[in-house]
Amino acid sequence: MYITASRLYDYMQCPHKVWRDQYGPQEEKMEPNPFVELLWEKGILHEKEVIEALGSYVDLNKGSIASRYNKTIKELRKGTPLIYQGLLIHQDLLGIPDILKKMPDGTYMPMDIKSGSGYENVGEDKEGKLKKHYAIQLCMYSELLKKHGFKKDNNGIIIDINGKEIEYILSNPQGRRNPSTWLDEYRKVLSEVRSLISNKKKNKPALGGSCRLCPWYYSCRGWCEKEDDLSNIFYLGRAKRDIINKDLKIKRVGDIRGCDISKILDKKKKDKSILKGMGKKTIEKIICRANIIKDGKPDIYSKADFPKTRIELFFDIEDDPTQDFIYLHGIFERRKDGQPKYVYFLAEDSTPGEEKRIWEEFWSYIKSLPEDNFSLYYYSPHEKTAFKKLLEKYDGPITEEELDNFFNNKNVVDLYQDVIYKYTDWPLWSYSLKDIATYIGFSWRDKTPSGALSIQWYNKYIKTRDPDIIKRILAYNEDDCKATMFIKDKVQEISDKKYS
Ligand code: SF4
Repeated sequence: MYITASRLYDYMQCPHKVWRDQYGPQEEKMEPNPFVELLWEKGILHEKEVIEALGSYVDLNKGSIASRYNKTIKELRKGTPLIYQGLLIHQDLLGIPDILKKMPDGTYMPMDIKSGSGYENVGEDKEGKLKKHYAIQLCMYSELLKKHGFKKDNNGIIIDINGKEIEYILSNPQGRRNPSTWLDEYRKVLSEVRSLISNKKKNKPALGGSCRLCPWYYSCRGWCEKEDDLSNIFYLGRAKRDIINKDLKIKRVGDIRGCDISKILDKKKKDKSILKGMGKKTIEKIICRANIIKDGKPDIYSKADFPKTRIELFFDIEDDPTQDFIYLHGIFERRKDGQPKYVYFLAEDSTPGEEKRIWEEFWSYIKSLPEDNFSLYYYSPHEKTAFKKLLEKYDGPITEEELDNFFNNKNVVDLYQDVIYKYTDWPLWSYSLKDIATYIGFSWRDKTPSGALSIQWYNKYIKTRDPDIIKRILAYNEDDCKATMFIKDKVQEISDKKYS
């Protein structure tokens, strides 16, 4: 059983996935998520574009492991300038760097083509942090080349989405506050992956953000529910779950709910290493959420104070992050004095011209509304972030100041951030729009509603122009907008019951 770079990547996304892929109930594993497939397709297309632009190369993309390995060694010995998808093996390690490039001193540089940014958190004028998962993969390629005598330095190159080459010095510290090097981290990850693959070590699932796109989602979720695992508590996650398991010997939601907070805090006072990183507020919140789960009832901690306006808009965008492209602005409009209606602005093509057109039309619509007598609800900061990007991309139709004023207006509400996250709790592990709306009885017309699928549908529509696909995209978006309204109304109802 080889350890590949993608296994190291999987481990960094979720430390349990490596074990589950190997020893988990295979019949419970689902097909890859369509969005993940779309990313693969786009990644392969991008890879092809980059490699074609680099000039002539030897393509070792096809064949058995043994034949590809033999051919790679042959080409490296020959001194071939560019090798695409060469395959290197040493003991239990197997790596396929996208490109092996011959350097002036005769050694080779491993290069990986990525369809994302080469840095983490890229700022406007500065370079961001190097990405850990890219660095770890390059460490493996660098090590494999060294083992075969084709490399001396500890470095590799990432070619990012814009074709920019970013050198990763793997013997450098990971950051100013983290003196351990990328190579140290690689060795740590490798050792963990080895233990998991050989079943010497076993770890548990933990519900978290990366689960949604994972083929094991329903399997792991079933396990967490059956075991009453602490990761069923919203926002707890793997790290805190493991700390509580170890320090308090508590594994189940049902067992943490009745805990005496003052006793836990006393214990923590005596031994500072206990529940590291968790203060009084966090512990109280965990116990409170455990109670909510077990009581099966949502709660609100402050009286709902929504804007009282004649028109309420429930807004949601659909965008394709693989192209950094917004293709739909959808609004469900509810008026005190009229029929509710769905309004939308849809890009007919994934071109900048169309993206700009719908952005302008959206603002014309907003400006046509009676100022101070409409409110707008959206769910999560994503809409705001996406609008800021549009502002950077296109001149007009509004200024930065106008956009800031719009989002700072008390009538424009991020229902998730400003209300759900701050003032409510639900007997759910996730407070996403889909999870809360479904919990309170809303259902989407589509049988498999998901933003990821909408992206796939849109990409298909661009190719086929099938009108049924557009109907599906619009129905899905309209239902997302309505789900936002449904949640807002439910919050009001819970508040009225508690505070009237
Ligand atoms: S569903 Fe979640 S916990 Fe399970 S393997 Fe996938 S990412 Fe890990």
